[in-house]
Amino acid sequence: MTKNLTINLDPTEISHDRDLSGSKLTDSKLTEQCLSKSSIAQNSFSEADSKFMHRAIELANIADSHNEIPVGAVIVCNGEIVGEGFNQSIMNNDPSAHAEMVAIRDAGKKLQNYRLLDCTLYVTLEPCPMCAGLLVHSRINRLVFASKDLKTGAAGSAFSLLNHEKHNHQVAVNSGLLAQECSDMLSAFFKRRRAEKKAEKLARKK
Ligand SMILES: [Zn+2]
Repeated sequence: MTKNLTINLDPTEISHDRDLSGSKLTDSKLTEQCLSKSSIAQNSFSEADSKFMHRAIELANIADSHNEIPVGAVIVCNGEIVGEGFNQSIMNNDPSAHAEMVAIRDAGKKLQNYRLLDCTLYVTLEPCPMCAGLLVHSRINRLVFASKDLKTGAAGSAFSLLNHEKHNHQVAVNSGLLAQECSDMLSAFFKRRRAEKKAEKLARKK
């Protein structure tokens, strides 16, 4: 199982432009940089990991149904889901409403604690710098993410903020679980958005 995941890793290191307001949506760029990262460390995942990432994918699909970038996250403590979130920045006019942020707020409320000690965050896309900062503040123990975000990923792709020596908390990171599935979902979303924007442009010209 681990072997297959590793084989799937490189083609899914995709750069997604999260800025939907701009015209430069540059998803699915399989760069040379991706290919040169084939020496990436192997990660091994349990059945439970798989189960929780599948739930994160369900949440990402909810975001997709609201025309939000499809990213979903769950927080697990002692084998139980204690927080869930999906990307909802546009619908809430809230740039901080990333899936991880929403899930962490949910878990804090549920656990009645601002520290999420012994918790694991599962998310379908590598966290951005804002969310990586939040992971450190929340003292989350472990991060499992699916697809890499070469452009803004802060768990090793563009930045390495989760194991920074100056932080007083280090987060264990595992990546690549169900990466192909999550990456395909993002690519389909951006493809659809590009087609919609093109159609809108054409309609305006008429
Ligand atoms: Zn984020």
